Amino acid sequence: MKEADFTTKYESTWCPGCGNFGLWIAMKQALAELGLKPENVLMVYGIGCSGNGVNFTKTYAWHSLHGRAVPTAVGAKLANKELTVIVMAGDGDGMGEGMGHFIHALRGNADITYVVHDNKTYSLTTGQAAPTANKGYKAKSTPEGIIEQAVNPVSLALAAGGSFVARGFAGQADQLKEIFKAAIQHKGFSFIDALQPCITFNKINTFKWYLDRVYSLDDNSEYNRTDIKQAFKESLIWGKKIPVGIFYQNNRATYSDHLPQLKGKTLIKRPVQVRNVAPLLKEFS
Ligand code: SF4
Repeated sequence: MKEADFTTKYESTWCPGCGNFGLWIAMKQALAELGLKPENVLMVYGIGCSGNGVNFTKTYAWHSLHGRAVPTAVGAKLANKELTVIVMAGDGDGMGEGMGHFIHALRGNADITYVVHDNKTYSLTTGQAAPTANKGYKAKSTPEGIIEQAVNPVSLALAAGGSFVARGFAGQADQLKEIFKAAIQHKGFSFIDALQPCITFNKINTFKWYLDRVYSLDDNSEYNRTDIKQAFKESLIWGKKIPVGIFYQNNRATYSDHLPQLKGKTLIKRPVQVRNVAPLLKEFS
């Protein structure tokens, strides 16, 4: 497979230079290098600029309601475990409206991959501050600066029991591609906080701002990604330096492993059994 096999005939609507391109290319290359075919992949999109990728990425796709991409993907995986299921959604969608779903999916360890396009703004609605925006960040919704502390998606994912927790940067698509490949191959819920500059509305967290700060966990030969305490410590580093890479990975039973009724054939390939519902209907009539 090639990257082009995952591209539709439709042109991108993202602003030229948008960080979404780095994620898009890295994901298509990851799918191709893993030998996956478009018909074996379901991409579930949230609402936001990242969600517009539904039009130009060639896989099965579902454009979900705002904040509901994760439970939609979990449901799809339960119905057809043969699919590779990936969520692509923004930080407003996932860390705002969808926050509760995020935490419970981490707890349950459903076997899907979740990529958050972290640009610290609601860009599709012209640049309001998202929950990941740094304290004091000024946007049209918060002209005096945001009061709340920023959500740290990596620390949060670790605290909620994430079995694969990573961070990548759109400006380093090669490393991001490798993270995506490892995440897709991971058995369980894999989460990637993808730093994605919005060049139109966020004039602070730019490509240069990140390039001056990011360093790779892979460069530290003593970093042990099975050590949760080390992962937590590293996840709290944000500011002058920002770590990227796979923070933590362990293998524990997935959500489906606890459901014996899902063993055997995938649900959608089983015969549909229509039971006699008349007594039930009578009870409610
Ligand atoms: Fe990308 Fe920002 Fe443009 Fe949206 S508004 S397409 S996030 S640069």
